[in-house]
Amino acid sequence: MGDIRSRGLNALLLAALKAHRDCTEGAPADYIPALAQVNPELFALALCTPDGVVHAVGDADHPFSIQSISKVLTLALVLRESGADLVIERVGVNPTGRRFNSIEAVEENCGRDLNPLVNAGAIATVGLVEGTAAEVWAKIAATHAGFAGRALPVDEAIFASEMEANGRNRAVAHLMRSYGAFARDADEAVELYTRQCAQLVTVRDLAMIAGTLAMRGRNPATGVQMLAPTDVTGVLAVMTSAGLYEDSGEWLFRLGLPAKSGVGGGLIVVAPGRMGMAAFSPRLDAAGASVRGMRALTDVAQALGANLFV
Ligand code: GLN
Repeated sequence: MGDIRSRGLNALLLAALKAHRDCTEGAPADYIPALAQVNPELFALALCTPDGVVHAVGDADHPFSIQSISKVLTLALVLRESGADLVIERVGVNPTGRRFNSIEAVEENCGRDLNPLVNAGAIATVGLVEGTAAEVWAKIAATHAGFAGRALPVDEAIFASEMEANGRNRAVAHLMRSYGAFARDADEAVELYTRQCAQLVTVRDLAMIAGTLAMRGRNPATGVQMLAPTDVTGVLAVMTSAGLYEDSGEWLFRLGLPAKSGVGGGLIVVAPGRMGMAAFSPRLDAAGASVRGMRALTDVAQALGANLFV
C-alpha cells in the first residue's frame, strides 16, 4: 500500500519535471556574481509526506544556496525566542507590494509595517535575535539544522561574493536601524543575514523544511518540535501574503498555498497538515522566483487537490 502511494508520488513529480523541463524562461540571478555561474539547466522537485519520507526527482542531490528561504527560519527563531508581538511591532507582517530589496518600501513606512520576508525586514529580524554575533549565528545555524534535519554548510565563496556586492542591503540595514527596528550594529546584522543566505541545501532539505512547517512545526523525520503550532500559523500567513514578494497575490490566486522563493533557485510550498514541497531550478522570473519551480509545483499541488481555499 505504502509502496503504491510512494510510486504514485514519484510518478507525479516526474510528470511535473518532464512537463516543464524544456522551459528556458527567466534567468539566474546575476546581481550576486557567484550565482550567475550556476548551471541554469539544473532542475529538481521533492515532496515530504507526514511520515517524514522525502520523494525526490531530477538533480535532487545538487547543493545550492538557500538564499531568502532562510528568512522563514530566522522568523521562526525570533517568534520562538521573543514572541509574535515583537515581530509585528518592530518589523511588521504586511506585504509591501515592492521588490524584495526595495529601499522605497522602507522609506515610505519609516522602517515599519514591512515584513520579515523582504530584505529590509529579514535583516531587521536577524537584528532582533538576542546575543553576541557568535551566539546569534549559532542559533541561526541550529534552527536551520533542526528544520532541515541536518547541519547546513555555508558556501564561503557565495558568502564572500554577496558581501562584495551588497551595498543595497547595507543601505537598507542602516535605514532600518535608524528607524529603531533593531539595536544590533547594522553591518553585523547584514553579515549574519548574508551568511544565513549562503547556507547550502538540496531540494530534499527544502522539502523537509517545508514538511516541518506543514506538520505544525514538528520535523516529521526527527520528531523534534522546532516551532509552536501557534507560531507556525503566523509564519505561514506571512509566506502566503508576502513569500513571493510583489507576485504573492497572483501566485496565491494560482497556487492557493504559502510559498517562499530564493534567488538561488530554491522554492518551498507548504500544504498545511498534508505535505511540504520543494523545487530547485535557477532561472528566475522578475520577482526572483524560480520559473520552472513555481510552474511544476503548481501542477503537483493541483493534482493532489492541495489548495487552502478548496
Ligand atoms: N541574499 C539575497 C539578497 O539579499 C536574498 C534575496 C532572495 O533570495 N530573494 O539579495
